[in-house]
Amino acid sequence: MGIATVNPATGETLRTYEAHGPAEVERRIDAAHEAYRQYRTTPFAERARLMRAAATLLDEDTDDIARTMTVEMGKPIAAARAEAAKCARTMRWYAEHAEALLADEHPDEHDVQDAGADRARVHYRPLGPVLAVMPWNFPLWQVIRFAAPALMAGNTGLLKHASNVPQTALYLGELFRRAGFPEGCFQTLLIGSGAVEGVLRDPRVVAATLTGSEPAGRSVAAIAGDEVKKTVLELGGSDPYIVMPSADIPRAVKTAVTARVQNNGQSCIAAKRFIVHRNVYDDFAERFTAAMNALTVGDPLDEDTDVGPLATEQGRADLEVLVDDAVRRGVTVLCGAGRPEELPRGWFYRPTVLTGITPEMRIHREETFGPVATLYPVADIEEAVAVANDSPFGLSSNVWTRDDEDIAFFVRDLEAGGVFVNGMTASHPALPFGGVKRSGYGRELSGHGIKEFCNVTTVWQR
Ligand code: NAP
Repeated sequence: MGIATVNPATGETLRTYEAHGPAEVERRIDAAHEAYRQYRTTPFAERARLMRAAATLLDEDTDDIARTMTVEMGKPIAAARAEAAKCARTMRWYAEHAEALLADEHPDEHDVQDAGADRARVHYRPLGPVLAVMPWNFPLWQVIRFAAPALMAGNTGLLKHASNVPQTALYLGELFRRAGFPEGCFQTLLIGSGAVEGVLRDPRVVAATLTGSEPAGRSVAAIAGDEVKKTVLELGGSDPYIVMPSADIPRAVKTAVTARVQNNGQSCIAAKRFIVHRNVYDDFAERFTAAMNALTVGDPLDEDTDVGPLATEQGRADLEVLVDDAVRRGVTVLCGAGRPEELPRGWFYRPTVLTGITPEMRIHREETFGPVATLYPVADIEEAVAVANDSPFGLSSNVWTRDDEDIAFFVRDLEAGGVFVNGMTASHPALPFGGVKRSGYGRELSGHGIKEFCNVTTVWQR
């Protein structure tokens, strides 16, 4: 498939785009490089003024860009508006905090003398043009959570967005220009994944961040490694959602449904594996299945829709392969496991709950990128953690318990970049975001995120 907007609710191709050719890509890389030479010395106050102007524009554009996102990738319209609002908040957060986050650090006086200096400090400088390879699932948010800190740190950005969200990609390229950022500070490259290598190997591009699947991450990191360029990888997840006997079960069920079907089930940090203590398993399974069954699947532009279509036909096919494999191997279907007959057009899939998962089923180890939940009963906290960690992924985790000892155990032993207690995983600009194992490395957001693309410079002086 080329670069195109195809409405996943109808399967209709609405717009197709010509990819940028080599000359245009070269012009844009050069512009990013030239812009960086000036922009890197812009005072924080000026960067913050521009970032706030971009946030204001985004607020004004919310209804339009939300509709564009929904038509391009199928998320429910209310969620699309919420995504735009979160982006604007994050832009303002970095406008306010970047200078303090990147303030010089002063080592202990004793250590300075020990290093033979009269004075020493750590100074954060920008790196240069950074390539961002981004996915379609949160087409604004994934980009802004890179762009806001990167631009506030004094870098410039080149966006290679997913090929199915070109209108959102072009909007983002324009947004920063309209806000007054110098020409070349943030640009969209309309290119397919095959053209990424050339950009990454260009000496003017100094680093890359990729949010997406493991194969894409491996490819970009391998090329960047070959070029000795820094990467941040935010890859897939199969987050556990553990429910212990002391949990507030009605709340745990309500949140579980949202955590699983948010964004039509296509979120890296969606809870995907529900690991429930056997003392509360039957109660949880019954309530959860009933709630998943009661969701409204339909047109994502309709305000009452809970679950829209999957973003691509291939995405639904991949999900069907995982569910069908589990069914063939004897999984128990509590609800769903098929297409809704009343929605023959578009790439819809019914909210699904499966139990009786065995290790040989692919669904046990692979990511379900759609509204499909797997339920695992466990005997105790040790088994809960063992099942949770029996995954190649380690993005985030959710635990429901009112027992402080349980919480300490989970925080110590869960192999994940986050532990969310009595709630669902959600990103916030002040909290670091990222994973371990096959979920990637590096962190986005907070002070950790803004420093990923900085030259941490030691200044030693006598
Ligand atoms: P994807 O196929 O990996 O695509 C992501 C981006 O990478 C797109 O821009 C894609 O371009 C590009 N790409 C694909 N293969 C590439 C390659 N070999 N070299 C260079 N670029 C390449 O992922 P997706 O299916 O769109 O997104 C779903 C995945 O992203 C899931 O695994 C999900 O968990 C993960 N994700 C992770 C996070 C996180 O923060 N950890 C957040 C969201 C999503 P084209 O569109 O042109 O192919």
